[in-house]
Amino acid sequence: MASHIVGYPRMGPKRELKFALESFWDGKSTAEDLQKVAADLRSSIWKQMSDAGIKYIPSNTFSFYDQVLDTTAMLGAVPDRYGYTGGEIGHEIYFSMARGNATLPAMEMTKWFDTNYHFIVPELGPNTKFSYGSHKAVSEYKDAKASSKTLFHDVAGVDTVPVLIGPVTYLLLSKPAKGVQKSFSPLSLLPNVLPVYKEVIAELKEAGASWIQFDEPTLVLDLDLESSFSGLNVLIETYFADVPAAAYKTLTSLSGVSGFGFDLVRGAKTLDLIKSDFPANKYLFAGVVDGRNIWANDLAASLSILGSLEAIVGKDKLVVSTSCSLLHTAVDLINETKLDHEIKSWLAFAAQKIVEVDGLAKALGGQKNEAYFSANAAAQASRRTSPGFRPLCLQAAGLKGSDHRRATNVSARLDAQQKKLNLPILPTTTIGSFPRQLSFDGSVVSTRQTSEQISANELISEEDYVRAIREEISKVVKLQEELDIDVLVHGEPERNDMVEYFGEQLSGFAFSANGWPPIIYGDVSRPKPMTVFWSTMAQSMTQRPMKGMLTGPVTILNWSFVRNDQPRFETCYQIALAIQREVEDLEASGITVIQIDEAALREGLPLRKSEQAFYLDWAVHSFRITNCSVKDTTQIHTHMCYSNFNDIIHSIIDMDADVITIENSRSDEKLLSVFREGVKYGAGIGPGVYDIHSPRIPSTEEIADRVKKMLAVLETNILWVNPDCGLKTRKYPEVTPALTAMVSAAKLLRAQL
Ligand code: GLN
Ligand code: ZN
Repeated sequence: MASHIVGYPRMGPKRELKFALESFWDGKSTAEDLQKVAADLRSSIWKQMSDAGIKYIPSNTFSFYDQVLDTTAMLGAVPDRYGYTGGEIGHEIYFSMARGNATLPAMEMTKWFDTNYHFIVPELGPNTKFSYGSHKAVSEYKDAKASSKTLFHDVAGVDTVPVLIGPVTYLLLSKPAKGVQKSFSPLSLLPNVLPVYKEVIAELKEAGASWIQFDEPTLVLDLDLESSFSGLNVLIETYFADVPAAAYKTLTSLSGVSGFGFDLVRGAKTLDLIKSDFPANKYLFAGVVDGRNIWANDLAASLSILGSLEAIVGKDKLVVSTSCSLLHTAVDLINETKLDHEIKSWLAFAAQKIVEVDGLAKALGGQKNEAYFSANAAAQASRRTSPGFRPLCLQAAGLKGSDHRRATNVSARLDAQQKKLNLPILPTTTIGSFPRQLSFDGSVVSTRQTSEQISANELISEEDYVRAIREEISKVVKLQEELDIDVLVHGEPERNDMVEYFGEQLSGFAFSANGWPPIIYGDVSRPKPMTVFWSTMAQSMTQRPMKGMLTGPVTILNWSFVRNDQPRFETCYQIALAIQREVEDLEASGITVIQIDEAALREGLPLRKSEQAFYLDWAVHSFRITNCSVKDTTQIHTHMCYSNFNDIIHSIIDMDADVITIENSRSDEKLLSVFREGVKYGAGIGPGVYDIHSPRIPSTEEIADRVKKMLAVLETNILWVNPDCGLKTRKYPEVTPALTAMVSAAKLLRAQL
């Protein structure tokens, strides 16, 4: 019985790739150093899968940035401004598209479906030239096939399944390039991209590939590629949702395709479709092991699903697989030495999921590892009955169908707040974090180091830690006063990460040693205040309003691995109630502006339209729960990343925040077009005026221009002026001049209004 893995995490078990990239970008290491780290990571992944007995092992799922940008490079579809003149695309052009360079901003970035992974959005138009610009897919295939030596082992060659993003998905994820009509249909470019795909396929065939996988999560296919498929097995892989019945029919009737991969974790209905009709003599890659979570598979349940599929497609055509790429889970549990033993027994990271896939395939083939299966059954049972897991928070469960709203409407609240805050028009603020540069004991504190870790490493005593953070806050406050910013932030120097910081203080969360997202394994509650100490300290340093800074429940949920034994909304309501208590404590200690970040609200939106309204309803409700009890004069801000909001603008309005700051500068006014089309927005709004993802420093004129464009569609009295997002990834020599330009732009416009 065969086994298959859709894709594998590229960061490395200890996030080696992230560190290698950062060091390369900072000019601290060479391109060769970076290539070496990448090559070692890739070969250890191939070895691991091949040792585990996986038959179909993916290649080309590695990336220095993301797979869509890799595809843009493969197709040579580099926007003109980056100066590509043909040939193999190197690091310089590749990273300029991803991150910008000294003179050019980066391309727009957005999220890969409903995951936490971003991709660089292709910019296409009728004049886009396509040419074979990156041989990465072929060279990865060849690298895997060649035996190699790494520092630790000799690696035998592995015959992999090269993975390409399918042409339809690639085109549908693009946006019209500058100057191209919005009505331009990207699919009209299919005839132009197919020749490059054909070249790649021919080269892969030439190199010896016998299978090739096309990831087509958009589920639409109408290709004229079949001719180049001869002599090659083609797997079309779909994931992240149920396949709609019509798409299923189109997909499974494609000729020239040998196998279909389906996400059977999110695709209960797809399972029914397969059972009612699956084409004869085709391979079914059954994605039963969840690539989006860290929970161990219920092997007995999966085995019974696989058994029923075997009866339909036949023993030799069923391949056990993952629901999607394992990119979306953590890498290896073996590195987790600090996790509670019982919790650990409930988990499976990518390395363990490979073993699950293999174990299931063997069991189906009659070689069931009884000890492995009974240990799994015991862990499943322990999870169902564990005391930390069980006592359902009834209050949260009961919130469904209820409503929570502030009593006064937003315009009356804004009036009350303005009387108290007395802000100028076009008030300026920032999103929260300031550059990290705390140095304890000569070492720079990494963004992931917590106060406990610092004390545990005996770098510094708790007292010295508090003193250092206080000094840092005071510097940030002084700087903002000098810059003449109106509503201040404390800079978040005490936070490792906006979700982890809260997770560490809430009950029901567990943490991995390697910086993977928190694991919500039990009921969530807040034992004691989490931010009041630092926020009141910061407020005491200034007469200006200091924003209390919290992460909202939906973002905490969407950026964690969430328990799968109760509906997500129940867990979200539990977090909302915890944040509500924090908001109340902040208000009681004199904080008058509180920002509750919902950076990831858009990300949790289900892919299938039919499920979206339900999600938005409980997500927005959760946000309102956090602040429904505050006084009219307490100003509630929220912040969101990625401005792909046009379809959910009414939900955003329904969040009923007093002010929303929103990422904007990388998405070409998409957001403003909503207002241009007449959506009424009465609350405060701050569309980001410059891109914080890029080191580039914007000029006063450029920012003033942007704000003028916003003023054309928004009322003067609701507009705020702020950067796109937090500044923690930037350096002071970038931040200080950028914020100086931002404040002068606001002042310039105030004088003109
Ligand atoms: N307050 C957070 C910060 O400034 C928000 C980060 C985010 O939106 N991702 O860092
Ligand atoms: Zn943001």
